[in-house]
Amino acid sequence: MRVCSILIGLFFLSNSFTFSFAQEKEINVYDIKEDGRIGLYADNDKPYPQTVTLTLKLVGLRPSKEVPEFIVIPAKSKEFRLTSLIIPYNRGWKYSFSYTYRFGDANATHDPNQVYQLPFEEGTSYRLTQGYNSTRSHQGDNALDFTMEEGTTVLAARAGEVVRIKEDSNQGCSNIRCSKMANYVTILHSDGTYADYVHLQFQGVTVALGDMVEVGDPIALSGNTGWSTGPHLHFVVRKAESRGEISLPTIFRIAADRAELLTEGTVYTGIKKP
Ligand SMILES: [Zn+2]
Repeated sequence: MRVCSILIGLFFLSNSFTFSFAQEKEINVYDIKEDGRIGLYADNDKPYPQTVTLTLKLVGLRPSKEVPEFIVIPAKSKEFRLTSLIIPYNRGWKYSFSYTYRFGDANATHDPNQVYQLPFEEGTSYRLTQGYNSTRSHQGDNALDFTMEEGTTVLAARAGEVVRIKEDSNQGCSNIRCSKMANYVTILHSDGTYADYVHLQFQGVTVALGDMVEVGDPIALSGNTGWSTGPHLHFVVRKAESRGEISLPTIFRIAADRAELLTEGTVYTGIKKP
């Protein structure tokens, strides 16, 4: 989650992700003086929705209606109105605002019975070396690590749109200081949840921003970039919440007639596309 505070031009950013994604300010909230009111607007030029929480400090002004706990700004929107502040005609007034924002739509819901495809080719086998919420680096995180040699073709576990890519890093190490060096691709699903495929090799993303991918489509080549103790694919499905984001345990099809949560230490074999 990033925090921005607009008060005499001051703003700051913070970041609480396990993997640090782009550092630039991804959403801009600003005020426009209008007739009898001040409009607060957001621009989101990213290809994914973002969730904003707005905090107002008002003296003498009031919002035209109650400001909700969070507001979802659709992908690629300009001048999306957040609220209006009504200017009184007979007394002094002042205001300031700050906001936090996060990737994704906090109204998204995930069906726990949604079935995912193992993200590697039919007939190839990889060990799940870290499972959901494991005792090592996945504590409190429903992420999965499949150990695989660099350059292994990574498949989409679920259909969606390619909305975020980093593939310019050729560095990694087994220390948290390398966490920003991970390459990744993010696929936004139709329910507003999204999957991150992480630690990809340098220039290892084989799809482009805006591409729609189907289950089982090749999307990347695995690697060992970022905070990583050895070549592997880190896979996680997340969704935005009113504050922050959560990761979701995901069911995978492991045989034609079987879908279940995966077990750490087990070797899984990719199956035929549905
Ligand atoms: Zn991991």
